[in-house]
Amino acid sequence: MAETAWARFEPKMKEICDLDRVLALLGWDEETCLPGPGRAARGRQAATVEAIRHQRLLAPELEEAMAELEASPELTPPQRAMARLMRRRKRLASRIPEPLVKALAEARSPALGAWQEAKRSRQVGPFLPHLEKVLSLVRERGRALAEAGQDPYDALIDEFDPGTTQALLTPVFSRLVAALVPMLDRLASRPEPKAVFHQRFAVDRQIELGQTIAAELGFDLERGRQDRSAHPFCESIGLDDVRFTTRFDEDELTESLYGTIHEVGHGMYEQGFDRAFEGTELAKAPSMGLHESQSRLWENLIGRSRPFWARYLPLAQKLFPEALAGVSAEQAYQAVNVVRRGLIRVDADEVSYNLHIVLRFELERALIAGDLEVRDLPAVWNQKMKEMLGVVPAHDGEGCLQDIHWAGGAFGYFPSYTLGNLYASQLMAAYEREHPAVWSDVEAGRHAPLREWLRAKVHARGQSASAEQIVRDATGSGLDAAPFLAHLERKFA
Ligand SMILES: [Zn+2]
Repeated sequence: MAETAWARFEPKMKEICDLDRVLALLGWDEETCLPGPGRAARGRQAATVEAIRHQRLLAPELEEAMAELEASPELTPPQRAMARLMRRRKRLASRIPEPLVKALAEARSPALGAWQEAKRSRQVGPFLPHLEKVLSLVRERGRALAEAGQDPYDALIDEFDPGTTQALLTPVFSRLVAALVPMLDRLASRPEPKAVFHQRFAVDRQIELGQTIAAELGFDLERGRQDRSAHPFCESIGLDDVRFTTRFDEDELTESLYGTIHEVGHGMYEQGFDRAFEGTELAKAPSMGLHESQSRLWENLIGRSRPFWARYLPLAQKLFPEALAGVSAEQAYQAVNVVRRGLIRVDADEVSYNLHIVLRFELERALIAGDLEVRDLPAVWNQKMKEMLGVVPAHDGEGCLQDIHWAGGAFGYFPSYTLGNLYASQLMAAYEREHPAVWSDVEAGRHAPLREWLRAKVHARGQSASAEQIVRDATGSGLDAAPFLAHLERKFA
């Protein structure tokens, strides 16, 4: 009977989801509150909880309940989706042999330490042996995860963006390069506008500005919180406990402002799951790319628009009357949309950002396949930067050492950022077709119509369907670069 199989499966699934949230809370605490000397104990505690979760996932009782469940014809669609998702988790958990999990965890920590030191001293040499070690273990991990005939790099991408493959990404990325390289050529030679946001901005007022905008966009601060951390992130501990962090710079306003809007986009996604899914496998995004689409949509498509500045410049001027005296909404808009040949991905504008991602995609694909050796990475990085962005790093700190991902073993993650940018434009274009008043809404601070549309089309569905399916249902097509390129053409023509 489905009833009994479900009754045995559900509490086991919920227990595993609770352990996910406990680990999220430990991670949040580590980045925001934990005193430095507490790190060693915290590492041990997190490892213990992870080991318990791993045992629960592979426990024979869960397997028995699931086998019975999967054979039952009487499941509802959400129940079937939960069983499918748990089966995937079990498969991934069982594929990586225990010694490999341990070896990777042990290699990662010194590699991250060496990366930090290398970035600080701008000397890549001492970091390379660590990267080589991590890479060889990640290659092994990719082979262990891969289905028969599946490419190991595809298996790594699939962990972050299920269903996404190199075959799907390659033509899309080629199209982006063909359009963006000449666009960058054209735009980077324009004279730069006045840097109106490089002044003194008191942090308490920055917090007030960010929280006012966050609330108006629709992040529920009663069901979440904002804290400070060196690297901004958003973490959900539950539907009614969604936390994001921000980094503040007293001499510049836009880092905290756009950091806040970005994380609030992630946060509204986490606050928007169907309440019936709470505590289950369904209360999650189906892919990192779709998650990123929600942060990028609010940060770039709304936050870097003219109507946004028409609405929020007066508020910013009220909070910073001296710094922003005499600044016009048009000047503010121009200042946050400067297109440059930059070296640093996280500082990149909407035009050049995806070129940084394509560069990393090509390099990590070659590293995993064994077509590129770690010792050649710094030189090949610089050469590719010159080809695609037309600039060459003066040192490796602003070259191949700038991102933390590879040192931490996260190969296959970078494509998610570009998927997010493309999905965001697809969703926005679809919304605009249905709601031509969108820009006068933004200018009036009326964000509920767009937010509720996203909630219905994307957030509430959790991972009851794939990212591809959710985007297709909302927009009428699967992954497509055209709306993103049309947005840039319209904005920067
Ligand atoms: Zn993000």
